[in-house]
Amino acid sequence: MTKGGADTHVTILGSGTCVPSLKRSACSVLIETGMAVILIDAGPGTIRRLLRVDKTIFDITHILFSHFHPDHTAELVPLIFATKYPNTDRRQTPLTLIAGKGLTTFLKKLKSVYNNWLDLPSGMLKTIEMDNSQFDSRTFSDFVLETAPVEHNPESIAYRINSYENKSIVYSGDTDFCDSLIQLAHQTDVFICESSHPDHLKVPGHLSPSVAGEIAVRASAGRLILTHFYPECDQADILKECRQAYSGPLALAEDLMRINLK
Ligand SMILES: [Zn+2]
Ligand SMILES: [Zn+2]
Repeated sequence: MTKGGADTHVTILGSGTCVPSLKRSACSVLIETGMAVILIDAGPGTIRRLLRVDKTIFDITHILFSHFHPDHTAELVPLIFATKYPNTDRRQTPLTLIAGKGLTTFLKKLKSVYNNWLDLPSGMLKTIEMDNSQFDSRTFSDFVLETAPVEHNPESIAYRINSYENKSIVYSGDTDFCDSLIQLAHQTDVFICESSHPDHLKVPGHLSPSVAGEIAVRASAGRLILTHFYPECDQADILKECRQAYSGPLALAEDLMRINLK
């Protein structure tokens, strides 16, 4: 990995779900490390949230999708389409899209609807499919990426970004309790974990505060940030529920919350 560029920063762009909310945009996290400017998930509203933190679509170098549900992916089409305005010269570096198996098919199907409105100049849109049947990894110039299969959709993966300054961020994506996530999050500095519903409303395929806390304990995570809140979470004492399992540093995600890893 190269050394250079910015220190590692994490910004929660969207702490919400598919449910329309002025307070919580759909899922997206911005990670800046070295020269890389990474989005993990890009739910509806992500582009406008980016503008709020003085970033544009042209700054983004990588987009990592945890899975293909619309609240995690739906901003991709407007993002690529907007790249064509006023002309495609504005993007100076290729955009790399990363997801589990099925990314190529997902893009092909989008293209069958939008045709050349999704075309970018040759080489400016790259895709990487991670192996979502097991742990996988890739090394980029500014960070090392590790992935693990999680319990939600067949293509679902959680991400770990290890920065050149030896900081690490783990993002669960949507998931239920699973050992692979515990393993991926082992001793991570920051663990951004979904907590879709309060404990008494927990559903299969999603976590609740105390279960997310249990995963953080087993992983010995340095700091836990809960996110992906359905509206019911804002009516419950999420902190208290999580504290039943986890006593370390803890925060509830808010849109535009910035986390400095130093
Ligand atoms: Zn989902
Ligand atoms: Zn979701």
